[in-house]
Amino acid sequence: MALDPDTLSQLVGTVRRFVSERLRPLEAQVSESDEVPDDVVAEMRALGLFGLSIPEEYGGLGLTMAEECLVAIELGRTSPAFRSTFGTNVGIGSQGLVMYGSPEQKAKWLPGIASGAVVTSFALTEPEAGSDSAAVRTRARLDGETYVLDGQKIFITNADKAGLFTVLARTGPPGSGAKGISAFLVPREAAGLAVGKPERKMGQQGTHVCTLSFDDVRIPVENRLGPEGEGFGIAMRVLERGRLHIAALCCGTAERLIDDSVAYATTRRQFGKPIADFQLVQAMIADSVTESHAARALVLDTARRMDSGEKVTGRISASKYFASEMVGRVADRAVQIHGGAGYVAEYGIERFYRDVRLFRIYEGTSQIQQLVIARERIASA
Ligand SMILES: Cc1cc2nc3c(=O)[nH]c(=O)nc-3n(C[C@H](O)[C@H](O)[C@H](O)COP(=O)(O)OP(=O)(O)OC[C@H]3O[C@@H](n4cnc5c(N)ncnc54)[C@H](O)[C@@H]3O)c2cc1C
Repeated sequence: MALDPDTLSQLVGTVRRFVSERLRPLEAQVSESDEVPDDVVAEMRALGLFGLSIPEEYGGLGLTMAEECLVAIELGRTSPAFRSTFGTNVGIGSQGLVMYGSPEQKAKWLPGIASGAVVTSFALTEPEAGSDSAAVRTRARLDGETYVLDGQKIFITNADKAGLFTVLARTGPPGSGAKGISAFLVPREAAGLAVGKPERKMGQQGTHVCTLSFDDVRIPVENRLGPEGEGFGIAMRVLERGRLHIAALCCGTAERLIDDSVAYATTRRQFGKPIADFQLVQAMIADSVTESHAARALVLDTARRMDSGEKVTGRISASKYFASEMVGRVADRAVQIHGGAGYVAEYGIERFYRDVRLFRIYEGTSQIQQLVIARERIASA
């Protein structure tokens, strides 16, 4: 159920203040230490950020997609690593359970996910199954009342901290494609499950991705999420919501980078005047503002349509495609407007330039979004 307008604006205002007063001053520290401090994580829990999308009956805020996007835009105004701390609990790690969990599964896991006591991860990608996610090879073999999982997952966000994984594994025969995949809830303590060391990566320091190895991991049948063979559909529905959230995040980051660029351009002087007076600099600002407005409008329109029950698969992909490419261009212009200051670490602009690169890759690359957009449009002709 939607929040009343006053409560929503209070929530958005609280998140905005938390971002500007608490998180922004820590951006460089988090990047250097590659960790979000524990006291900040505790404050995120207290604010309810881990439970933004979890229904109220399980202790979350139960936001609609449009409300979640407004909050994500605010969260985008700082380093993405902060949002990732609870991002998997809000999105890909929890939504399979929210949408397809049995009453028992929801009662067991959702309250801990909503409070942040349990961190969740979503484990789809494998060495041989990236964009072609229906090529999953991790096996789940039924043995009496247990499934036995064997295989490997890579690039799993928050795996180092997760207490629960939503794992996509093949229950059908090899080569059974999307129809042979099922989803499972795998607790971290399951024997035979090993989590690798965090990967070194281009940006978003403070958030980690790891490999998962499954070696005869036994989990009870009641940990299967949804019917056998429907895991791929579950994963795609989960990713749809996640993609729109990421698109909203991109809008916030673009707005932040525009703020920083305008602040710099109005104070930095060359040829006897602020560089903001030069029309070639103004053109860069104008392009970034225009694209950022367009992305925000597209994202929020798509979210409202989704909330009203419209099928918006193509619009979600268009939102993720446009917003993630847009923030890449905005970050590039931000570096240009800052000149040499944009390239050195002290100003933090080069960090955002690296951070936003990921948005075009995970939860479906830009090319995969293009394929979905075209497929949906052609199918509706
Ligand atoms: C930091 C990070 C966090 C991640 N978090 C998670 C997570 O929590 N859980 C999870 O399951 N996964 C996660 N991933 C994995 C991510 O979703 C994949 O990396 C992504 O989907 C791309 O897959 P790939 O890396 O195998 O690239 P590939 O699929 O090998 O793609 C390589 C290139 O080929 C292009 N390409 C592939 N197929 C086509 C096609 N049919 N048409 C046109 N072009 C194509 C791609 O667009 C890309 O440009 C994460 C990745 C990173 C880097």
